Amino acid sequence: MAAEPNLSIEPVPPVERALVVTAHPDDVDFGAGGTVAHWVSQGTAVTYCVITDGDAGGFDPDVPRSQIPEIRRAEQIAAGESLGVADVRFLGYRDGSLTVTMGLRRDISRVIRQVRPERMLIQSPERNWQRIQASHPDHLAAGEAALCAIYPDARNPFAHTELLADEGLVDWVVPEVWIMAGPQPTHAVDVTDFVDAKLTALRAHASQTAHMNDLDERIRGWLSGAAAQAGLPEGRYAETFQLIHIS
Ligand SMILES: [Zn+2]
Repeated sequence: MAAEPNLSIEPVPPVERALVVTAHPDDVDFGAGGTVAHWVSQGTAVTYCVITDGDAGGFDPDVPRSQIPEIRRAEQIAAGESLGVADVRFLGYRDGSLTVTMGLRRDISRVIRQVRPERMLIQSPERNWQRIQASHPDHLAAGEAALCAIYPDARNPFAHTELLADEGLVDWVVPEVWIMAGPQPTHAVDVTDFVDAKLTALRAHASQTAHMNDLDERIRGWLSGAAAQAGLPEGRYAETFQLIHIS
């Protein structure tokens, strides 16, 4: 397969702090588990902010629905630990009905101002027509709300003024944003050394993945396809992102 003309494999210099915002527990591990493991190996402190508890997910009808949020939070914490991510925060929104509200923008802005990341990883606010399953409505809403929080809310001292007045959280500029599963990837990360770590993290989400007998093959298939698109040699694995810089 020919390399996509605009897909760069140029390494990006490491940062001190990165913040990942996703709609559901497991989204980061499916979309970017290898990349997160790579960042951690470079010394980056990674924080996860998970907006919903994934309470509309799961496949086992014998598990009471009321237990799902607790189960899925524990799974995301364990998955994070397996990649070296110790700081996992949950916003407690309802799964399946996420919309872009000023309240959600404020809640993400709060975490941005607390963590003060130089890099963020978010979901795409744009639908990917090639991979509709990656464009779950909650993902689109999470991506749009996160982008609104990055620009302009978190950096604007006159947005969500209660964050400063009540919590002392000053404005913060996020200069680098990575978008996963979007329609226009620009950057590929070679995650060959971190595929096993990604699979371990995915298996930690047992309520979502325990029934997938072909999880290994499926993930390796996706990642080797992405590597081929980026022009990497046979046997390599990659995750792709749209990388944007905001001054
Ligand atoms: Zn999801």
